[in-house]
Formats: sequence, C-alpha cells, structure tokens
Amino acid sequence: MIPASDNCACHRPSPTGDAQTLPPPGREPVAFQDALALVLEAAGASPDIIERPLFESLGGVLAEDIIAQEPLPSFDQSAMDGYAVRAGETVGASAKRPVRFSVIGEVAAGAAPACGLIPGTAMRIMTGARLPIGADAVVPVEQVVEWGEPALGIDVPAPVRSEAHLRRRGEDVRPGTPLLPSGTRLTAVHIGLLASQSLAAVRLFRTPTVALLSTGNELMGGVRNVNGPMLTALLSGLGCSVINLGIAGDDTEAIVDKLAAGAGADVVVTSGGVSVGRHDHVAEAMERFGVEWLFRKVRIKPGMPMVAGRRGRQLCFGLPGNPVSALVTCVQFVKPALLKMMGVRNALDRVMIRAVLEHAIAKEDRKRHFHRMVVELRGGGYCARSSGGQGSHMVASLARANGLLVIPEESRGFDAGQLVDVELL
Ligand code: AMP
Ligand code: MG
Repeated sequence: MIPASDNCACHRPSPTGDAQTLPPPGREPVAFQDALALVLEAAGASPDIIERPLFESLGGVLAEDIIAQEPLPSFDQSAMDGYAVRAGETVGASAKRPVRFSVIGEVAAGAAPACGLIPGTAMRIMTGARLPIGADAVVPVEQVVEWGEPALGIDVPAPVRSEAHLRRRGEDVRPGTPLLPSGTRLTAVHIGLLASQSLAAVRLFRTPTVALLSTGNELMGGVRNVNGPMLTALLSGLGCSVINLGIAGDDTEAIVDKLAAGAGADVVVTSGGVSVGRHDHVAEAMERFGVEWLFRKVRIKPGMPMVAGRRGRQLCFGLPGNPVSALVTCVQFVKPALLKMMGVRNALDRVMIRAVLEHAIAKEDRKRHFHRMVVELRGGGYCARSSGGQGSHMVASLARANGLLVIPEESRGFDAGQLVDVELL
C-alpha cells in the first residue's frame, strides 16, 4: 500500500472546492465490495427534475410518489360478454326448469345502458360495458339459451351467484392508494398503470450524461473499436445521454484534451490504457484532469486494472481495454453508480437466476470471478454452462453469454450439478 503522503491526489481539495476525505487510494487492489461501496458513496443522486410525456418515459425514474386519484375500474362493469341479470331471479333454475328473461336491450363498452332492469328482464352486455341499474350479475353468453331472432329472450339453466362476472368500481385501485414510490424505474407495466390514472406526463429525475472515450493507438489503425459502440449501447440502454469523445491515442496530453471535452458530463468513462504497460497513460491523464482516486485496481477477474475516481461531483471510470473487462466493469460498477445518480431506489437491483451447473468450474486465485454463462430453461428449470473461452479479449464468447456466474473471492469454484446463482446480462 502506498502511504497517503506519497504523491496522491486524494486529500487535495477537489476542483469544486468541497474537500473530501477519501481512503488512501493505494495501488493494492481493493476488494470488489469495498470498491462498489466507494463508487456508490461517491455517486450522488441528481436533484434535477424534468417532466416527460408518458409515451417517452420508459426507463425513467420517478421523482414523485404516485398516489391514485381515480378508482379503477372507474365504474361497475361486466367482465364477460353475456347478459346482465338480477341474480335473485335465477334461484332454483335448472336445465329442466330454466328461468326465462326477456332481453330489453344491449349495452356495449363505451355506451350507457338505456334503462335499468325490472323483474323478468335481462340486458345483453359486452366486456367492459357499464352495468345497468338493478343488475347484480352477468351470465356469460355461453351459459344461456337464446330464443327469438335476434335474441328476444334467454333461458338461464342454472342459478347465478350474485356478483358473478362483475368488475366493481375501485376493486383494483381505490383513490388515495399509493401506487408507485419515487425512485421507481419505469417499465412498460408501470407506464400502463400511470396511463390508467389519466397521467399524460410524469416528473422524472434527470438522467446523467456520460462522456465516453476509447483509448489506444491501435484503434486508430487495425484494431476495431469494440468498446465505443458496446458501452454506448449499454449506457444509453440505461437511459443516459452519451457524449462520444471518440478515440485518443496512447498519449497523456491527447487523453487530457479529450477528458477536458467531457468536463461538463456527470460521468466520464474511458476504456483502455489503465494497466501498468509503458503505453498506459489514462490514470496519469485523469490525475492531470483533476481526478481524486477512489481506488486503482479491484480484486476481480476480468477487469482487475480498473480505476475510479472523482472530480468534484463528476465520477470518472477508467475501464480496461479488453472488451470483456470493459463490459464486466461497466455492468458491475458504472451501472449501479448511474442508477444511483438517476435516483433509483435500489441501485444494486440485479436479475439473478438459480440454475443447475452443467459442469465443474474451478478457480484458484482469490479474486472475484465473473464467468460468462449460457443459461437455458430446460425441463422446467434453469441450466447453466460456460459460454466458452474466458479470455478477456473474447467477444464471441461474451456475446453467446446471457449471464455472469459470480465466483466469490474465497471460493474454489463449483461442482457439476451444483445450484448456482447467475446474474443475467
Ligand atoms: P489495454 O487495456 O489498453 O491494455 O488494452 C488491452 C487490450 O484491449 C488490447 O489488446 C487492446 O488492443 C484492446 N482494446 C483496447 N481498447 C479497445 C477497444 N476500444 N475495442 C477493442 N479492443 C480494445
Ligand atoms: Mg492499451
């Protein structure tokens, strides 16, 4: 561990003046959980609120508690296509001695019943149509015998329970019921619920802007930039606006210049150039840019050389260049930080699946491993197997995978047939 006095930036006041006391940013790798805690602590939720049309709110994070204003359903209605009746009149009905009703009209969804029911009458009613006054049950059309042309009457061959096939006003949602708390990340079904409350727009937390830079001389000739498009997709999928800083070669000045272009972003993410090679200049460039380290190196595989720091309120992540390392570190650290900045209630919400491991997976070191897995539903349960080569440069095996198996630091791995938890990608 490098002592705190040793030329590190961590105890300097930040460029915005808010002096921070951070743990010494030694170059010993920190444990995954510690690194994550540091990142989450440094990620402040955005106080900015924007209003968005409901149609454009998918993935947005609610900045207000939603309390029901309207009952749902908003009126008493039929749950089936059939006949609205007075249930009490069907007592004693049987196939041999059906109860006969004359049909006095029809009510369709969106229409108002022309009249109420009087004894001996029924009204044809469609799903979602308003219940006529006097009716307290609906008999599905399949359960009656219609007579006359078109049906002038019906015979009901069995007793009908009061309340049968009805949807009562407010049975789903009563006014005043809390529906969604602030901090909810909106999915399609949340948006449906908000639409049911006649909300046309919602108040959301502003999503962070992320400046993304790919570094490496090789990207300027020969080697394809995988990380740029891949991380852009990942970050914009989270709802962030991505500022593409393009590519910088392995040159401190060039990297600092690019970082300066991203100075206004909430978050900076770079890839490449964070290892200990002679051409790795990102950490040095970040320091010159004013970054105070949260940590340099994490005890994980892939992704060990990752660095993270902050510059005032801005979070800066230097991800390793190998695409698998870049993706895993982005998912494990950048994503939760962004979710927290977006105001999401549980920034660590991950979709985990319990699966039977098809073969043994061994581990020898004391890093936390993220093993790329193919998870499949088979015979009513999930099975998981390795997606293939685990080299951190192997993009095809990454693309085959739909999950990451976490092998904890102290674990030596798992046996075939063991139940394991896989984090879905
Ligand atoms: P580095 O982290 O700079 O040591 O790079 C590690 C490996 O990742 C090298 O083989 C680089 O060529 C490769 N690499 C770095 N950046 C990218 C990128 N944006 N797309 C694809 N491969 C990259
Ligand atoms: Mg490099």
